[in-house]
Amino acid sequence: GTTDMTDNKAPAVEVRNLAKHYGDFVALKNVNVSIAAGEYFVLLGPSGGGKTTLLRTLGGFHKPTRGEILLHGRNVGHLPPDKRPTTMVFQAYALFPHMTVTQNVGYGLKVAGLSKARIAEKVDYALEQVGLTQFTHRKPHELSGGQQQRVQLARAIVLDRDILLLDEPLAALDAQLRKDMCLELKHLQEKVGITFIHVTHNQEEAMTVADRIALIANGDLVEYGRARDIYRAPQKSFTASFVGENNMLKGKVAQSNGASIVVDVAGAMLQVDKRDLDVSDGQEVTLSIRSECVSLDRANGSAAASDGLSMIGTYDESVYLGLTTSHLAHLPDGTEMVSRVIAGSDDTPPEAGAPVRLSWKPSDIRLHVE
Ligand code: ATP
Repeated sequence: GTTDMTDNKAPAVEVRNLAKHYGDFVALKNVNVSIAAGEYFVLLGPSGGGKTTLLRTLGGFHKPTRGEILLHGRNVGHLPPDKRPTTMVFQAYALFPHMTVTQNVGYGLKVAGLSKARIAEKVDYALEQVGLTQFTHRKPHELSGGQQQRVQLARAIVLDRDILLLDEPLAALDAQLRKDMCLELKHLQEKVGITFIHVTHNQEEAMTVADRIALIANGDLVEYGRARDIYRAPQKSFTASFVGENNMLKGKVAQSNGASIVVDVAGAMLQVDKRDLDVSDGQEVTLSIRSECVSLDRANGSAAASDGLSMIGTYDESVYLGLTTSHLAHLPDGTEMVSRVIAGSDDTPPEAGAPVRLSWKPSDIRLHVE
């Protein structure tokens, strides 16, 4: 549904200096983000961080305390939900229990006063997109959880809006169904081609569906980018600690000139690529190394504490996880370290308390200034 004032070249969503307070409580501090038309965008973060508040503010269910929201180039600050190019997908249990699938999906169009023929045409299209054409005469209680969720999606698609807002759309489903539906959501978005904005606290779900992911925590949009960049090259230490399994090391910059920075972590002098970071001597920083990038090997007691790309620690135990095994160790200052490897059948771990060397490649250690 494009309106006269819609600008087709503008981003689907442009949020500028958005703040939302509930009384004294600051739910969103100062959010800036731009989402392209046709993009699958995920808001990811811990519970209470502000994801739902942001989504509902985009949809017009909350009034911003400060800032602007432009949807397809149009400032929507004054518009109620039904006048915006957005539609919200609710969870499966919000279906009308006494109506069939067809009636549930067509309900919004009937309320809007469309002709019977037009409704039938649109409902057929929507049900085809979500793969529910055989279930048109069933009532919600005759459907599985995943099928009910598809009816919800069809109800949203049929309204023909440009932006779909999905708040934890898979939360009610069990783990296996969640995985299947995740890929289906992604494919559905590719088919219908409209902008999807999806809230979740589940990292795997976010990475499965997203073109780009924004990390939201404590009312801040911490960082956003493509899934693989967020995972492989997080800028902020929060991102590194929330996405994937990272070893987080606190240290102080010992030397900041030259191509690599030297960071003192509990007495070990670690080398870190400078990239485009700006740090000064003595500055407190955090280093992150993903667990699958750390190797753990037996060391002899007299081994040097570090060669710049490794540290000596003490082996604790191994946890067999099927596909992978996590080797746990700790550094002299007590910091826990995890080395995660593809599980082999003949792994004999060191004995608890044995000295081990934890090492990594130069490209696998990242420095965060905040
Ligand atoms: P979740 O994943 O748990 O839904 P979220 O990231 O979506 O979390 P929000 O629902 O946006 O977080 O809530 C952000 C913060 O704002 C929370 O601390 C919440 O308690 C608070 N909050 C939300 N709605 C209101 C309200 N109507 N009045 C007061 N505080 C609210």
